[in-house]
Amino acid sequence: MKKHIIGNWKMNGMQSHLTEIQKIDEIAALFDNIMTGLCVPATLIYSAHKDKKAVIIGAQDCHQSKEGAHTGCLSAAMVKEAGAKMVILGHSERRQDQGENSRLVSQKADAAIDNNITPIICVGESLAQRESGQAEKIVSEQLLASLPSNKPQKMIIAYEPIWAIGTGKIPQMEEVREIHEVIFRLLTQKYGDAANDYPILYGGSMNGENASELLKLAHVDGGLVGGASLTADKFAPILKAA
Ligand code: 13P
Repeated sequence: MKKHIIGNWKMNGMQSHLTEIQKIDEIAALFDNIMTGLCVPATLIYSAHKDKKAVIIGAQDCHQSKEGAHTGCLSAAMVKEAGAKMVILGHSERRQDQGENSRLVSQKADAAIDNNITPIICVGESLAQRESGQAEKIVSEQLLASLPSNKPQKMIIAYEPIWAIGTGKIPQMEEVREIHEVIFRLLTQKYGDAANDYPILYGGSMNGENASELLKLAHVDGGLVGGASLTADKFAPILKAA
């Protein structure tokens, strides 16, 4: 499978940053061995996706319902119409800030799949959970409860240890390898051979320096990159490392 390197711009990016997305697209076009994506704020999806050569644009959330009285929310069909081909779901920041739980994430994944958008389902343990030896258990429970109701054609999983996000800290390589293996094993138990088609990304302080070591690990099929995806200068070394 192609390595998947996907940027998560979080709540960053104004119209003035479209030139940066253009630069990232130019660089992505040089790496046709990589699936390069950028999940931008909803306000940028439409302009960001227009006339792109290589980079695939995604959203950072969608509502679980088709339509209706949900002030301030966007349906999967809406982000799809704007140009999103994928959507991040259950990011730890939303689990924390918006109180999203795995059941809701699973419903959102169903909505994404119904609209032909690839869900990027995020899971990850807190520092306290890691330190008390519960990382594997927590990630497994979160994953199984966050998956869509039916076997999806396309789906991406992102393992993001919460304590590694935006901190400059990453787990030991062996710890990353272990969790990715657990995720792959659970997906295989549930979906059989189809599990080979679901990329498992690592996220949390990935950068140009640590990417190559991380991306060499078994079942690390790519990265979900926050801070280092905001500029072409920082993102390009990760694409090179992949
Ligand atoms: P950082 O790369 O900034 O640590 O963020 C990771 C992340 O949360 C991607 O979804």
